[in-house]
Amino acid sequence: MPDRPLPPGSTIGILGGGQLGRMLAMSAARLGFKTHIYADEADAPAFDVAAATSVGSYADGEAIARFARSVDVVTCEFENVPAAALEAAQRVVPVFPPANAFAVAQDRLAEKDFVTGLGIPVAPYAAVNSLDDLLSALPRVSLPALLKTRRLGYDGKGQVPIRSEKDAKAALASLGKVPALVEGIVPFEREISVLVVRGQRGETQFYDPVENVHQGGILATSRAPARIAPALAVEAKTIAGKIAGALSHVGVLCVEMFARGGERPELLVNEFAPRVHNSGHWTIDACITSQFENHVRAIAGWPLGETARHSDAVMTNLIGADIEKWRELAAEPHTAVHLYGKIEARQGRKMGHVTRLYPKS
Ligand code: AMP
Repeated sequence: MPDRPLPPGSTIGILGGGQLGRMLAMSAARLGFKTHIYADEADAPAFDVAAATSVGSYADGEAIARFARSVDVVTCEFENVPAAALEAAQRVVPVFPPANAFAVAQDRLAEKDFVTGLGIPVAPYAAVNSLDDLLSALPRVSLPALLKTRRLGYDGKGQVPIRSEKDAKAALASLGKVPALVEGIVPFEREISVLVVRGQRGETQFYDPVENVHQGGILATSRAPARIAPALAVEAKTIAGKIAGALSHVGVLCVEMFARGGERPELLVNEFAPRVHNSGHWTIDACITSQFENHVRAIAGWPLGETARHSDAVMTNLIGADIEKWRELAAEPHTAVHLYGKIEARQGRKMGHVTRLYPKS
């Protein structure tokens, strides 16, 4: 523990005002904290549940510094926060997770190099800055492959499949002139993710790995626990712990992996997020301490809470028009409904989620 854990009544500053910030603020309130949310949109979903709000650009160092002076600690609910914003806050108050965790996670190439450097397997990959790079990399990563932007990709955005060499030129053009990487498509049996929470003294707790299904690049469901061999579940946690430790991370970190089946099942890391994650929403209803509460505990220097699940769970995102089913969902037994208060149900927009609980297996 740090010398002085933040006492209840302190204020937690959150950069970012989406649903993750909203759920963080709700968990912080449960522990007696106040939150101040800084977002770049006036109708940020997290504003509804915060004690104080600021609207401003993440590039406005002075506004960020003013925000930081009004809080006791700063955290972040989205990955692509500019380094300058974290630095501006850091000059005033402690910032968790550390800026380095964001710097690595924001660049897919740096992230892959970092993970590989820890001896953890990833899909075959290569940096791509030109058509020549891409054509020479394809035989190494093998086809079919995915061309991805190094930065600002999320929810399947910023990536194009390449089925044959003939696709290479058009694929590169469709991303625009940005640094990229290409990676071989992994024929995985399941996609899983693991959440680790790491405290200020390096102590860690893990949630059970979950099994994720994506549709159109967006997470559709997370099932807890993942249907993988117990040894693989242990390995998934070991990998997540290694990454969190190497980053000196404080807070929740989510590591997404591909689980290959067959005679010698193995895990390959796809990416990690230095923050609370959509695939951890189930922990609100199926664990004593949710990912959100544990993130707050970690950045406040509190003891970490218990992560064991008391129920099995399936979390389903409500995307776009799915939100219209709220009446039926609210009437379902053993189902927790979470709506994010977003006004406009645009296609592909995460509007809420439901978690269906089952007896613990
Ligand atoms: P990402 O933006 O890297 O998280 O990719 C979004 C989704 O695309 C992943 O969750 C996978 O379903 C799929 N995907 C990404 N990279 C690969 C890969 N190398 N092999 C197979 N599927 C992938």
